[in-house]
Amino acid sequence: MRTPRDIAASIEAAVQGKRALSLMEICGTHTVSLFRSGVKSLLPASLRLVSGPGCPVCVTPVGYLDAACELALREGVSILSYGDMMRVPGTSLSLAESRAMGARVEVVYSARSAVRYAMEHPGEQVVFLALGFETTTPASALAVLEARAAGLRNFSLLVGHKRVLPAMHALLEDPSLPLDGFLCPGHVSVVIGTRVYENIARSYAKACVVAGFEAESMLCAIERLVAMALSGRPAVENCYPVAVRPEGNRLALELIDRVFEPSDTTWRALGVLPESGLQLRTEFADYDAAQRFGLSLEADSHPPGCRCGEVICGKITPDACPLFRVACTPSDPVGPCMVSSEGSCAAWFKYTGATVREASSLTMRERPALGTPAAVDPARSESRSR
Ligand code: SF4
Repeated sequence: MRTPRDIAASIEAAVQGKRALSLMEICGTHTVSLFRSGVKSLLPASLRLVSGPGCPVCVTPVGYLDAACELALREGVSILSYGDMMRVPGTSLSLAESRAMGARVEVVYSARSAVRYAMEHPGEQVVFLALGFETTTPASALAVLEARAAGLRNFSLLVGHKRVLPAMHALLEDPSLPLDGFLCPGHVSVVIGTRVYENIARSYAKACVVAGFEAESMLCAIERLVAMALSGRPAVENCYPVAVRPEGNRLALELIDRVFEPSDTTWRALGVLPESGLQLRTEFADYDAAQRFGLSLEADSHPPGCRCGEVICGKITPDACPLFRVACTPSDPVGPCMVSSEGSCAAWFKYTGATVREASSLTMRERPALGTPAAVDPARSESRSR
C-alpha cells in the first residue's frame, strides 16, 4: 500500500527534467480537498494545478442573483436557498442583505425541504433557488415532480443549474489556457459517469481522470494524468471506482431528463455557452419562477477590480487579484469566489496562511485596481450600513 508521500515521490520522479505540466481540477470540492489534505504542498513546482469553473456559486451570473434579490423583496414571496448563496454580492444587494431589509429568505438543506415549506405555507409564493451541477439537479427534478403530485400552486424553481461538460469544452477552445489534462469531479461523475469524457480524450487529446476526495485518490489521479500527458497517450480513467461507474447513475440521469432539457446559459466570466444549462421542459413550465414572475437571469458583470472571471477559468491564482486579502476577505467578500466554501479565493485565503493585508502595503502597481471600499461599489457600502 503506497502512502501519499510515496505517490508524490513517484510523481516528482516522473516529471523530473520534463516540460512543465498544467492540470485543472474542475470541482470546487477538489480545490478545497487539495489544500486541506496537503496534496498541493507535496507536488513538484513544475506541475501546476489550476482551479476550474466547478463552484456553482462562483459561476452563477450576477443577473440571477439580482433577480433572486428583487423577487425576495416582493410582497408574498419567500426565497428558499442553499446557504452558500446568502452572502454572494449582487449588483446592489446580497440575499442576506435583502433579508435584513425585511425580505423573506430562508436557508434550506435540500430541494425537498423547500417543497415541504411550500406545503406548510400555502399563503406564500415559495421560490427555490435551483443551483448547482449534475449533483444537485436530480433533487430539483424530484422536487418538481413532488410539487406536481401534491398539486402545489405556490412552488416554483428559479433555475440556474449548469452542466459540467460544455464548460470543459469551452475551456479547451481557449488558446490562452494550455492544459494537459483534467482532474474530473468526483461527485458530478457519480451522476454522469466516465464515458462522457471520452470525446475530450479523443478529440482534444487531453487526459481525464476522475478522483475521489482523499489524498491517495487525488494523488493517484494526478500520477495517471502526468503519465498520460508525458506519454502522449491521453485516455479516460477512474480513480474513484467505489462511487463512479462508466455509465453514471441511470436513475439520476433519467430524473434530470424527465424534468429538464439542455439550454444555452450564461456563466460568470465565460459568457453564454451552448447547451451548458438546463431549463424546465414545457410540461413543467408552471414551475418556472422566471416565467411566473417575468424575470431575466442572464446579465453578467463584475465588481470593479474583481478578477473572479480569470480565477474561475484558471488563468490566474487568487493572490494575483489586487483585492485579495485587502478589500476582499471572507468576512467582507467582493466576489463570489471569496464567499463560497468551495471558491478558490476562499480556499487560498484559508489554507495559504493569508491574513488581511493593509491597503498601505500594496505596491504602486496594485493600488489603482483597488480603489476605495466605497469606490468598489457604493451601493454595496450603502446597503451594508442599513
Ligand atoms: S480575491 Fe475577491 S475580488 Fe479578487 S477575484 Fe477573488 S473574489 Fe474576486
